[in-house]
Amino acid sequence: MSASGKKRVSYFYDAEIGNYHYGQGHPMKPHRVRMTHNLVVNYGLYRNLEVYRPKLVSHTNLTRFHSDDYVNFLRTITPDNMTEFSRQLARFNVGEDCPVFDGLFEFTQLYTSGSIGGAARLNANQSDIVINWSGGLHHAKKAEASGFCYINDCVLAILELLKKHQRVLYIDIDIHHGDGVEEAFYATSRVMTCSFHKFGEYFPGTGDVLDIGIDKGKGYSINFPLNDGMDDESFEKVFRPVIGKIMERFAPTAIVLQCGADSLSGDRLGCFNLSLKGHASCVSYVKSFGVPTLVLGGGGYTLRNVPRCWTYETSVLLDAEIKDCLPYNDYYEYFGPDYRLHMPTSNMTNLNSQKYCEETTIKLLNILDDIEAVPGTQIESGGLNNVTPKGMDIDDDDKGADDGGNGDDKREGKKGDLKTEMAK
Ligand SMILES: [Zn+2]
Repeated sequence: MSASGKKRVSYFYDAEIGNYHYGQGHPMKPHRVRMTHNLVVNYGLYRNLEVYRPKLVSHTNLTRFHSDDYVNFLRTITPDNMTEFSRQLARFNVGEDCPVFDGLFEFTQLYTSGSIGGAARLNANQSDIVINWSGGLHHAKKAEASGFCYINDCVLAILELLKKHQRVLYIDIDIHHGDGVEEAFYATSRVMTCSFHKFGEYFPGTGDVLDIGIDKGKGYSINFPLNDGMDDESFEKVFRPVIGKIMERFAPTAIVLQCGADSLSGDRLGCFNLSLKGHASCVSYVKSFGVPTLVLGGGGYTLRNVPRCWTYETSVLLDAEIKDCLPYNDYYEYFGPDYRLHMPTSNMTNLNSQKYCEETTIKLLNILDDIEAVPGTQIESGGLNNVTPKGMDIDDDDKGADDGGNGDDKREGKKGDLKTEMAK
């Protein structure tokens, strides 16, 4: 299956991203992306990347998924006026985990532009792989911020890909369940979501192996719940057969891969024990299928390890070897005392027994056996306009012209609120 030849790898970076602050003491640090970029440049990887500057998305683009009132609220709210908006802050879950900060809306526009613009590049066959380390904010809901995420760029990028692609696969290796993306596409067979995450007494609490989708989407949400201490060997043993089976049964023509780095060993909020090689092994396996892929960032809270991970994965995507000895860079002091790319794992116990991993893998393979192999292969007739994924059947709703991601996509009428439909 492995595609030969060099891939055209595009890369999004906007230096502004690093200037946003969630607030003092908040674990989310947007300047992780600036640190990553600095390492990418100092390793000399940058010259092999095709840098793209997408058009900044408008608020209208964001309402392809998010509700108008939520997007308007994000445009309006500032640290100075927030006392006037106490009801909306509570309603939209903004204020605590997802704080109000200066430039909040511009921040969401920037990272989302990278993802939607990256999807548009894949659609136009301008790249084989697109990287946006500032994206991957997978928890945001239609009308609610969640888990440090405000606008769900993963969902918006997938909607963009659906204009051209009949079937899109979303893979999530962040330690947290990719709940916002799963929820958005829970009732459709055109998007398969597959998340590997810590489950049980852990944010966001969803992602049971039994949560497989509803209606036409039944069998198209795949969840691998895991326990503390997941290591490289176990991760590879569960990831490869499940993803291999998905590629065989679902045969996506585009992939979105969320590479949250909080599944690495020693993460401030995580509890897995993956090395960079274990984490990047997932990236390398997905790449081996040669399907157009949008690679996104996500979580990652031990500051020195996130740039290590995403820089290494950039090298893997470029098929470039990079030295373990870190080049001098603007953040050199963060990487002491050994100043190496790779980091040690710990001796923590892996609470995922071989038996558990094998049994869960078999459960998921059985679910995948039950879906229709390569469903809906009818010829594409244009863009997917007018799409609202919320509980709406988008399988046959493929009408309207492709607006290239910049058009005005008016959603008329209220669609079902998936949140209530999904209530368990
Ligand atoms: Zn996470």
